[in-house]
Amino acid sequence: MKSLRQIFFYSTIIYAININADEIDKSYQEQSLLSVLYAQTSAEYAANNMQTYKNAKIALDKAIIDMNWSAALEQKNNFSNLKPAIILDVDETVLDNIAFQARAIINGLSYPNGWVDWAQEGKATAVSGVREFLKYAQEKGVKVFYVTNRIHILEDATRENIIKLGLPFDTDRDVLLMRDENGWTGDKTARRELIAKDYRILLMFGDQLTDFISSEESSIFHTERKKIADKYSNMWGEKWFMITNPMYGRWEYSIYNNQNPGSEEKAIKLRKQALNTEN
Ligand SMILES: [Mg+2]
Repeated sequence: MKSLRQIFFYSTIIYAININADEIDKSYQEQSLLSVLYAQTSAEYAANNMQTYKNAKIALDKAIIDMNWSAALEQKNNFSNLKPAIILDVDETVLDNIAFQARAIINGLSYPNGWVDWAQEGKATAVSGVREFLKYAQEKGVKVFYVTNRIHILEDATRENIIKLGLPFDTDRDVLLMRDENGWTGDKTARRELIAKDYRILLMFGDQLTDFISSEESSIFHTERKKIADKYSNMWGEKWFMITNPMYGRWEYSIYNNQNPGSEEKAIKLRKQALNTEN
């Protein structure tokens, strides 16, 4: 569970600030208990991720031979002869950080508190199915790029965690593109554009809409947000592969109309207001 502090700091994380260090009321973090348990314990969650990455192999085969195929909206023309690549988000797409979410519930503290420590421990495991898929992509000669909104100071720890898990990690150029690196913001568009200059982007993977489209487009009220899924219905399962994340994300901010709700009580109230009992 990500707290209000996370929402507030999401785009301007100052990792040293620990404004809720003495928080003792855990009720807000405990609202995410079932979603974290679902992701951490259920065979259903693991199976879903396996099927996503297994289906991605089929899509990859199609994409490799179709020289007019690109998965990136940022890639507009003259890409047929570029080398093939794929782009993956890192957290909850490649690396499984659910233990951090469990810590948040137990401790009553949440992101950014404890996040840097967790990331530097390098204990994240691989999301189910990703290792087999990335090995397959590597064997096919497809470049693997990781585009993450982890902050730049976590680059070394993130690289080591990925390598420790036996996942592909090329060293001939930067394949791990961090937030705050080279002036990159949390919007991943600029990083996709950069990769698209040199590579034909075959497939993209993430657990957030912003792993595929701009932050601006994804930042709308929750009642309108599913229309974005409909708008790109031809992409899902073909060129774009979404990992389900019931624990946190932009979908949650959209419940608060993409604004800091100001208090945990207000956030809980807005969550209840967002429930639809009529259809
Ligand atoms: Mg992610």
